[in-house]
Amino acid sequence: MSDQTLMEKLISLAKRRGFIFPGSEIYGGLAGTFDYGPLGVVLKENVERLWLQMFRDDRDDMYGVDAAILMNSKIWEASGHVSGFSDPLVECEKCKRRFRADHLDGSGKCPECEGKLGDVRQFNMMFKTHAGANEDTSAVVYLRPETAGGIFANFKNVVDSIHPKLPFGIAQIGKAFRNEIAPRDFIFRLRELSQMEVEYFVHPSEWEQAFEGWRKMMHLFAKAIGIPQDSVHELEVAAEDRAHYSKRTIDFEFDYPFGRKELWGLAYRTDFDLSAHEKHSNVELKYLDETAGVKFTPHVIEPSLGVDRTVLAILSSAYREDSMGGEVRTYLALAPKIAPVKAMVSPLLKNKPELVAKAREVRAELKKVHPAIAWDDNGNIGKRYRRQDEIGTPFCVTIDFDTLGETPELKDTVTLRHRDTGEQERLTMPEVAERIRSVIQ
Ligand code: ATP
Repeated sequence: MSDQTLMEKLISLAKRRGFIFPGSEIYGGLAGTFDYGPLGVVLKENVERLWLQMFRDDRDDMYGVDAAILMNSKIWEASGHVSGFSDPLVECEKCKRRFRADHLDGSGKCPECEGKLGDVRQFNMMFKTHAGANEDTSAVVYLRPETAGGIFANFKNVVDSIHPKLPFGIAQIGKAFRNEIAPRDFIFRLRELSQMEVEYFVHPSEWEQAFEGWRKMMHLFAKAIGIPQDSVHELEVAAEDRAHYSKRTIDFEFDYPFGRKELWGLAYRTDFDLSAHEKHSNVELKYLDETAGVKFTPHVIEPSLGVDRTVLAILSSAYREDSMGGEVRTYLALAPKIAPVKAMVSPLLKNKPELVAKAREVRAELKKVHPAIAWDDNGNIGKRYRRQDEIGTPFCVTIDFDTLGETPELKDTVTLRHRDTGEQERLTMPEVAERIRSVIQ
């Protein structure tokens, strides 16, 4: 299967099965926006929940915030985004299409029509709007281009309310907005995206150790969400390519169907942000080490993970086709932990009330293990299995006459079918519950 075909199939499956829809579709769409549907939203939440668990809740040195998206525009002046958050823009003089100059081949020709390209100019990617009824410059606000701003702006609030001991970090998940010149590649380059970010505050002498710790954590997270380890590559970003605030950056790249591209970033932001905000706000943003009796500006390590790029890495690496029962079968080999549906329960025949009643009982029992246990009694059993395969459900549980005792020694056993191999086992209910529990926890 060519990589282009894979993307087409993935986009089609995502829409057909309720994972991801084009944004504003009934009005012809809006470039750079996508909407998560019933299954996509659960997949996304599972990714976010796992991240919260690993990056915040399982640790004693991490705290959360949920800052407003709209913030005083001075935050973005201090952070350098108003003056410097831009990409090089170039327009074709013939067809008027616009491109990111650094994504072109350098020939000076339009990739679409071969026309001559105009001069490169810097294009600021922040969305600008106005707060309140006045549209003068004093009312200008920006939609945040990264969630980090809301973390730095709350550094003092967290220190004053929680009194954390250094090193400690603040984690946040939320929307960010970037007016990308050329949104593309499905949910890879969006204008409205979600980020999972940590700002980890350390003593300046300890930044390297903290950087290494978070670097390992990102690989552990890649493993936990089930993307293949050999598809994730670290790229040490050269000084001239780093963001203005960074003294060291590692991009975690992923082998997407359209090429190796940035999945996540890990940056050493020094004391750039806290110092800049202290200067612009005139509010002291320092940490007092009470034991040593010294005050200093902590340095910052930032693991920054895009939720949408993570979901795309998961979907594109999980997509599989094989042949089963003489037909092409499509399935998503999702890690059970993040699969939106953990198991589907069905009665072998839907017009046999005793089978249906028993299957309902089994489902209620399994729901105690996890709420995402689906019910399907439509069509024949083979079709039901295929539908679950396509959305990545790891297990299907079928209740038949043997469950009811037609073969006495099989009474109260059910069939457990495995998604990836199609293999089936005969197990008791406690065994099935344990199988499911053991892979989703
Ligand atoms: P790129 O070079 O691809 O534009 P970036 O280096 O500007 O990305 P960062 O500023 O490091 O990205 O943002 C942190 C993370 O947010 C990225 O690693 C990525 O996961 C995500 N992200 C950034 N821009 C987008 C976007 N336009 N659409 C979806 N996710 C994004």
